[in-house]
Amino acid sequence: MPTLPVPTLPESTLSERLHVVRDGIADAAADAGRDLADIALVVVTKFHPVSLLLELHGLGVHDFGESRHQEAQVKSVELADLGATWHFVGQLQSKKAAQVAGYSHVIHSIDRDSVVDALGRVDREAADIRSTDVFVQLNLTDDPARGGVADGDVERVVERVLGTAGLRLLGVMAVAPVGVEPRAAFAGVRAASERVRALHPPAAFISTGMSGDYREAILEGATHLRIGSAITGNRPTAG
Ligand SMILES: *Cc1c(COP(=O)(O)O)cnc(C)c1O
Repeated sequence: MPTLPVPTLPESTLSERLHVVRDGIADAAADAGRDLADIALVVVTKFHPVSLLLELHGLGVHDFGESRHQEAQVKSVELADLGATWHFVGQLQSKKAAQVAGYSHVIHSIDRDSVVDALGRVDREAADIRSTDVFVQLNLTDDPARGGVADGDVERVVERVLGTAGLRLLGVMAVAPVGVEPRAAFAGVRAASERVRALHPPAAFISTGMSGDYREAILEGATHLRIGSAITGNRPTAG
């Protein structure tokens, strides 16, 4: 048999990838016996141009996730007319925290007292911003450089957030570590979430689940998915 030329597959479009992910979320929610309305999709658009965010908005996306302060700030200003909800998901330095609070509606990466305190010092009236919704990020590894609060410090940081004016605690956030079965990692997050709820029942939200593991996250109670590349395609650069 002569070898046939390999047809070049047409590249999937943004709209197709968004549909695939939305279907995957619906399937996982059904399998978990959960209401789809309880699961928010944040599309992580870091490194992508504003044109892609506009295209996503046209496809019904209103929640954007960004991880670098300057890039996020520029995008939120350029796209202010969209009325989108901006989620900051990257590591946060205390000296940038006030600026990030200026445009972020939700900060997913609270992991240090100094960041909590810096957010508490923001003059919200002068800056014309309301309270900031926050997640306390958990570090599921033994490596302090990974970002997130060590398991033993969760209650302490949660109490500090609860005692800080201008912050509204939504719950816990985590990234599943490489080399760990995601379902097991997210079961641990769920257990930590229950500890946080014992301190503050409204803080019942869980921000877990990325392109490769959102199904497992949904099965373990995720309420906020942070999905990038499965929807956007590969990021232009990883700078
Ligand atoms: C980049 C990023 C994501 C999205 O990752 P994908 O694998 O592209 O879905 C989610 N959460 C955080 C904290 C990120 O930095």
